[in-house]
This record gives sequence, structure tokens and C-alpha cells, in this order.
Amino acid sequence: MAKVLLGVLFLLTNGRSINFFSLKQDVEIGSESAKEAEQSLSLVRDLNIAGYFLTIGQRLSQNSTLPALRYHFRIVNSREINSLGFPGGGVYIYRGLLQIASNDDELAAILAHEIAHIASRHGTAQLSRQLIVQAPIAIAAGLPATEAWKEQLGKLGISLGIDAPFLRYSRDQELEANLLAVRLMADARFDPEAFRTLLEKVSEMQTGEAARAPNFVFDHPQSETIAPEIAEEIERLNTSFRHARASGEFRAFQTSLERLPYPIPKTVVADTRPDSVSKIFTHPQDFYRLGYPDGWQVTRTSPNGAIIAPTDGVHPSRNGDDVTHGVMFDLFDIAVPDRSLTLEQATNRLIVFLRQRNQSLRVVPGAQTQMLVSDESGIRTVIIKKANSSNSSEVVWVVTRLYYQSLFYMVFVAPEDEFATYQPIFEQMIRSLRLR
Ligand SMILES: [Zn+2]
Repeated sequence: MAKVLLGVLFLLTNGRSINFFSLKQDVEIGSESAKEAEQSLSLVRDLNIAGYFLTIGQRLSQNSTLPALRYHFRIVNSREINSLGFPGGGVYIYRGLLQIASNDDELAAILAHEIAHIASRHGTAQLSRQLIVQAPIAIAAGLPATEAWKEQLGKLGISLGIDAPFLRYSRDQELEANLLAVRLMADARFDPEAFRTLLEKVSEMQTGEAARAPNFVFDHPQSETIAPEIAEEIERLNTSFRHARASGEFRAFQTSLERLPYPIPKTVVADTRPDSVSKIFTHPQDFYRLGYPDGWQVTRTSPNGAIIAPTDGVHPSRNGDDVTHGVMFDLFDIAVPDRSLTLEQATNRLIVFLRQRNQSLRVVPGAQTQMLVSDESGIRTVIIKKANSSNSSEVVWVVTRLYYQSLFYMVFVAPEDEFATYQPIFEQMIRSLRLR
């Protein structure tokens, strides 16, 4: 137990990854999670199509420097540009991403990247990080070491399957995975330069007209250009290699993939539960989705934010729109060089920022509560504010949650005497929020 506590301190001070799970648990968590994901994925099971893809995966993963895991490789029959690497060895590459590869070596780059995440155990490192936020006491008592981890993760609201929070990686982890990926490519005698060309094509798709790759951006936060460390490594490894080329086998693989029909989409069964948040606001790049009541109006206020309110809830004023009933939400930039802020620190920073704009804001003492916001730890802060137009008070809920290098926040407002009417709507909206 002392060792675990030391680990917690290490993570909190250093911010780098720590992993509470054993390699055996990686396999258990990953296979359970993959099984769950497969229920919503359509896989290409025909070995005549997938055979060459498997060969390349095996060539890369049979590397003596990697931890002893059994890797398996699957193609997801979907237009999405995405890939998933489950802890313990499950690699799932979407057809939309495979079609970007124009030679054997670029195909190897896609696979090497996921193998590298799995070998570096990034999934369970992310899960450990999340457990520290949600269950520090349980962690200290040795929670994930017990056999009943699945039930216990469920109790903490941590989902498995395709939406598992541990499939989202940090930028540090991406860099580490990419460095290992180019080495795996070189060891298996693929041209590591193909890693660069593939990444360029992917980021072109991200910045291109319709930004076709929201999911890939999302699960793998890539920078626009290749990191200098990766470029150097490619340079170092590149000297003696043949150049990337498309073999006959590769071309046959791509052709058979092109001929394969896409699955017929399952009809979505409408949710018939009575729900007052029947409309959905979707961020332009699908960073998040938020449900809201029919009849409320959306006013975009920034590239990442908007106000959603009933028609009489917004009043134009000198300092922009004054919201008396409704919600405003946005991403708040908290990037601080050389250190990342905790949720608490980032939230305090936002509150200071909001108070600078409105001096009458008063945080209710003791009224900060932890809550789950889109499956991760969030905070609700209760604030009292003088209404701009009259002398009455408004109740404000500020709900915050970390989202990569920023803070996602929602500010719910209603007059004090009407707050009880709005509270259930606000609660439903918070529950409806899905950050990707
Ligand atoms: Zn990645």
C-alpha cells in the first residue's frame, strides 16, 4: 500500500504516466473491452481480404523488444478514418484509414502506431490516471489489483468498449508511440519515411475542406507537422533502407477491400423515454454533443462555444448577450507552459476570469461538488449573481471538466425564484453531454 501511495504522489507531482495494472490485467481489460466494442463494429472476417493485412501486423509485432503479448489485427468495415488499440493486443483499423495508405510501408505505419500504444501500455496508464481522480482512496486500498476490477470500474462510471476513456491518449503518449512505431517499422524492414508521408496525409484530411477525420484527431491528437524527435529518428533509421513501394500483394489487398460492400446501417431505435432535452447541439468538429429542450435557441458565440436559451432568456447588452435563463458553454484555454493544471486549478482560473467580467459573482461557500461529466470527473460550482437588469438574484451553476489542454465549461443561469423549475432541465442537459 505504501508503494501505491508513493505512486499516487509521483503522478500528481510529475504528471507522467504510472500504471496500477499488471500486464495480465491489460489483457483482461482489453479483451473485455474489445468484446464490447465488437458488438457495435462490423468486421471484415474474410481472410482472402484481410490476409495480407494480418501478415504485416505479425511482421511488426514479432519484435523481441516488445512485451510478451498476443497481438491480433482486425479490419473494421467503416468509412471512418479511425483506429483503436485495446490494452493487451487488440488492434482495430477502420477501412477509411486503410484506404489512405498507398503502399505496404504506409499500411505498416498505421499498424505500427497501434502496436506501439499497446506495447507501451498507454491504455491502462490513462485508466490509472482517471482512477486517481475518481477513486484516490480506493486506489490506495488496492482496488484494481482485485479480480473484480470490471464491476468496480463500472461502479465508478468508467465504460468499456468503443467509448472507453482509456482509448484516448495524451500528446506525450502519441509522441512515445510514434517514436516506437518508426523503430518497429525499421526493425521489420519497412521504410520509416512512410510514417511521415502517412501522417501528412492524415493531417491533410483533418485540415481539409470537410475535416474528414474527426475521430482520428480525437483518439490520436496529432500535431499538424511531424514532431522533430520523430523526424530525427526517421532520419537516423532511414539510411540503409529501400524506399516505400506498393507490392502486388498490397495492391490486391486494396482492390479486394474496395470491392467489399459496406454494411447496411442498422436502423436506430428511437429513444422513447420522456425527455425534455430532445434536441442535440453538435460542435462543428464533433468535439462534443449537448442535448437541449425543444424550442430553445442556439446562438453561436465562438468557434467552440454557444448560448442555448429560451427565446426570452437572452438580452442584448453593452457587453454582449446577457443570459438570464439558459446555458452558455465553451472551451477555456488553460495551457500553461511546462505544467498541466488540475481540474480544480483550471476551474478556479475560470471563476477568476468570469468574476473579472462580472464583479457581482459570489461563489457560494462550500458549494463545489464533484460530479461525473461525460464519464469523467467534473466539478459543479454554485454562484450567486445580481441580475443585470433588476435588483433580483440569479443562481448560476458552473460545470467544468478537463478536455485535453483546455477546460470545457457550461454556465447555467436562472433567476433565483425560478431555479427550481430549471434545475431538472439543467441536470438532464449535463447528463446528455458527450465529449469526444
Ligand atoms: Zn495514437
